Amino acid sequence: MLAGRVAVITGGSRGIGRATALALAQAGACVAVNYVHQEQAARAVVDAITAAGGEGLCLQADVAVTDEATRLVSEVITHFGRIDILVNNAGITRDGLLLRMKEEDWDAVLDTNLKGAFNCTRAVVRPMLKQKAGRIINIASVVGITGNPGQANYCAAKAGLIGFTKAVARELAPRGVLVNAVAPGFIETEMTAQLPDATRAALQSQIPLGQVGQPEDVAAAVCFLASDAARYITGQVLVVDGGLAM
Ligand code: NAP
Repeated sequence: MLAGRVAVITGGSRGIGRATALALAQAGACVAVNYVHQEQAARAVVDAITAAGGEGLCLQADVAVTDEATRLVSEVITHFGRIDILVNNAGITRDGLLLRMKEEDWDAVLDTNLKGAFNCTRAVVRPMLKQKAGRIINIASVVGITGNPGQANYCAAKAGLIGFTKAVARELAPRGVLVNAVAPGFIETEMTAQLPDATRAALQSQIPLGQVGQPEDVAAAVCFLASDAARYITGQVLVVDGGLAM
């Protein structure tokens, strides 16, 4: 399905990013797995890709830092010779009610989740425009659509990412570069493992499909948007949430 394509996934060491890296490799893409701190976890993802007969590359970079995001993209091109798919997945939370939210918590979340996507997207645009083809897939969140108390910073970043997706989709559509977002609901990863049991149970009870999602559920949506089957889809937000936000 993706044989001969080169993908880079930010935050590919764990959770949704890890599942997406494995799924893209399974579909035949060469995959660059980015991480910021957890080198061992990222290497394990690349090892799993290689063991399954695929091709992977492990690259450290803090996507919130412009020069590091630029270096990440140029290292992918140096190694694989091209770049076809960018998945802006790296994300963090720093939850707290607005009245108590520290400026550094606002900045950290906006810098990683929104500016990180801007940094990486800007770095891939030139090579993709030259190729007259490319896919950019941004991992947003349903809370960027619905809002969520205690997550003003995160909701703002994810809503911003959805606006960014649509603006860039319009800019790049004439040149064959497709830009979409995936908005997961409540997915079982380290990010959501921190939630208290009562909050988890309350959230789960609101999901029409009756269970939390798995990283593989999001990975499947990303693979679809990266594939030829999605060649007529751009500027969209594909919600993967078990019906939570409908
Ligand atoms: P996770 O398990 O906490 O993993 C986060 C990943 O992002 C890790 O690979 C981490 O790298 C990387 N990362 C963090 N900051 C980075 C930076 N500055 N530069 C590069 N990489 C960075 O999170 P997740 O639950 O899989 O979430 C993945 C994405 O889905 C995020 O954008 C999140 O907002 C979104 N999302 C998640 C859910 C959910 O329910 N889990 C729902 C909606 C949306 P290290 O391993 O090196 O730390």
